Amino acid sequence: MPEKHIAKCLRLCQQVRDLEGVELLHALGELELALHSIRSDVGALPTAEEVQQQVQILEQLQEPVITMDMAGYLTSWNKGAQTLFGYTPEEAIGQHVLFLYAKDADDNGEIPELFLEQGNSFLEVRRRKKSGEEFWAGLALSLIKDSDDEPVGLVAHLSEITERLSTEDKLRLHSRIIEDSDQGILITDVTERIVSVNSAFSRITGYSAAEAIGQTPDLLHSGVQDADFQTRVRQAIHGAGPWQGEIVGKRKNGELFPQSVSISVVRKDDGEISHAFSIFSDISVLRAAEENMERMANYDSLTGLPNRTLLNQLVGHALTSAKRNKNYGALLAIDLNRFSAINDTLGHEIGDELLRQVAQRFRLTLRDEDVLARVGSDDFVVALLNIQKREHSGIVAQKILAALELPFLIESHALFIGASIGISIFPEDSLDTNTLLRFADVAMKQVQETSDSGYLFYSPEMNQRAKDQMRLEGELRRALEDQQLLLFYQPKVSLRSGRIVGAEALIRWRHPERGMIPPVQFIPVAEETGLILDVGSWVLEEACRQVRHWLDAGLETPPIAVNISARQFDALLPERIQEVLDRYSLPPEHLKLEITESLLVRGPEMVIPIMNELVAMGLDLSLDDFGTGYSSLAYLKKFPISTLKIDRSFVIGLPDEENDCAIAQAIVTMGKQLRQEIVAEGIETLAQMNFLRDLGCDQLQGYLFSPPVAALDFENMVRQGKRLSFV
Ligand code: C2E
Ligand code: MG
Ligand code: MG
Repeated sequence: MPEKHIAKCLRLCQQVRDLEGVELLHALGELELALHSIRSDVGALPTAEEVQQQVQILEQLQEPVITMDMAGYLTSWNKGAQTLFGYTPEEAIGQHVLFLYAKDADDNGEIPELFLEQGNSFLEVRRRKKSGEEFWAGLALSLIKDSDDEPVGLVAHLSEITERLSTEDKLRLHSRIIEDSDQGILITDVTERIVSVNSAFSRITGYSAAEAIGQTPDLLHSGVQDADFQTRVRQAIHGAGPWQGEIVGKRKNGELFPQSVSISVVRKDDGEISHAFSIFSDISVLRAAEENMERMANYDSLTGLPNRTLLNQLVGHALTSAKRNKNYGALLAIDLNRFSAINDTLGHEIGDELLRQVAQRFRLTLRDEDVLARVGSDDFVVALLNIQKREHSGIVAQKILAALELPFLIESHALFIGASIGISIFPEDSLDTNTLLRFADVAMKQVQETSDSGYLFYSPEMNQRAKDQMRLEGELRRALEDQQLLLFYQPKVSLRSGRIVGAEALIRWRHPERGMIPPVQFIPVAEETGLILDVGSWVLEEACRQVRHWLDAGLETPPIAVNISARQFDALLPERIQEVLDRYSLPPEHLKLEITESLLVRGPEMVIPIMNELVAMGLDLSLDDFGTGYSSLAYLKKFPISTLKIDRSFVIGLPDEENDCAIAQAIVTMGKQLRQEIVAEGIETLAQMNFLRDLGCDQLQGYLFSPPVAALDFENMVRQGKRLSFV
């Protein structure tokens, strides 16, 4: 680089003036070396011819090319540069390159540095023409180096990045983005014809680009939107500002799908609209998830009916409008009878199917505007939200009951099921959803207690009864703790010998204020509330304690029968009984168990293993209240039952009622065939006794011989050897 050596020569020449002797000689030596260097540098420079040739090539280039030294001063300026910038070579050469920079150029004068640091050979820069117009330019730089490979200048090759190029770039970029987008994009021209769609559009709608282009967006219209929507979209297309919303579109296969859409327009420079585009996403998955969540929150998954949450909402709305408009409505609480027996006997799958079919029949019975909800396992509620008269709800109840008359055919079973329906009316009974539901429930429970199937309107007296029952429940809990319960014993006598051959333990409640309460008044409450489990345990315990006491006292104690509720009859019952027997060291033959026929409807699979276990323990099973239940005689053979107790209801009519006589006879005959002992309950008269004895009945239990008595009285009876006299 000659400048560097020249500068050194100049410095040395200045020094030489002040030097003498060896130092002078030394400096002169250095000066000579520097001059040599200058000579050799100059020798490495291109010849004038070479430079001329290069310049001519540059000159001929249409592309703007300029050169500058490392300080940025322009050293050449070709035609292309002149065309681009508008400056002649005379105006440009010698100027600093900065005079070409746009005001906002951010590469201010740093090009060589940038170039040297980063080695960038291509930059996008802002430049200014002589006219003052600013523009983007592509700048390709290359270094001019000297023979020492030191940079001495730059060649700048400029190209204007015109609108045309930039749009091309943009287009390329944008179409990439558009094509890769997950959202469907549709572009229409001013005539509302589709001019472009992306691949997501085709994926979502099912229409290929070829099928869509040239059509109008009506292609996707589902017809679900209202006119208002169409107007707003029109307005958006005509430039009233972007529109965003959720609409329903239609796919090529006819399927409707929810979409989230935004519609905007593209304007030309002059502001005129050239295109409109809509960007949409298929939100059916999202919507499906939302709907699913909503369904789960508001609907019963088994039957698809509204659940309690939704029912409460719907009734709540209806009550609000009932207050305003003074209209009437009714809630019907429906409970299926013996559903749990079917569920336990035949399994949950059949139980579930039965519920589905019941729901279907109910739904078909009702009008569309009536609400049918499932609020518990076999509990349904019908809400009639606008009725003319209270009686109309009774008609609906009758229809519901009628819908259950035909059997349900599930797998190989023909299942009959009844229902208890309680009705509450608004605004009469209440204007509060929960109260209405509770009242309908109270009425429904009343039906359950009094009959098999049917319906009842709620009345305040019923509520009183319900309240009484609740009080009774609380009191019964206390009775258990405070030892207000006791057992009475009713003897069973042999119709052959007349001697006491057993006794039934019957529970009594000595209420501190109300005196003796008979079991019919509190056993059903205990059954309903589950308190029967505690009561049953107490009875078992007390009976065993009493027998142990009698045995210890040397009494010839006959077997004592205790009543076992169906609710106590589970897989753990044998274990629980064994535990009590062990505790009192009581041989099992001292205890008999009376079970009711209603237990048998649970089905042999569930009941027989437990019964077998009890029998294997040495216990004896009696079937209580025989004849009142539903068990077929053939069915009875399957159960390991040794005693049948003829229910009192068949005994009352003996010997005059023909039907009762026939039934009693049939039971005794069958019992004999099955080698079962027959006990007749509730014998009050000699005539009854004689009739049954003649039939071949084995034992008698009834007021004729003795009512249930306290333990001590029973003990005395046994001690005294009290006998039945047959006269
Ligand atoms: P049940 O087991 O059928 O008991 C027979 C019922 O008939 C007893 O009524 C008894 O007093 C009554 N009875 C006996 N002979 C005559 C008669 O000649 N004439 C009349 N009118 N009645 C007679 P009670 O003691 O009121 O028991 C009623 C029901 O309460 C029992 O019917 C039984 O189902 C239930 N129960 C009684 N004690 C218990 C118990 O400890 N546990 C369970 N789970 N239920 C019990
Ligand atoms: Mg009994
Ligand atoms: Mg009985």
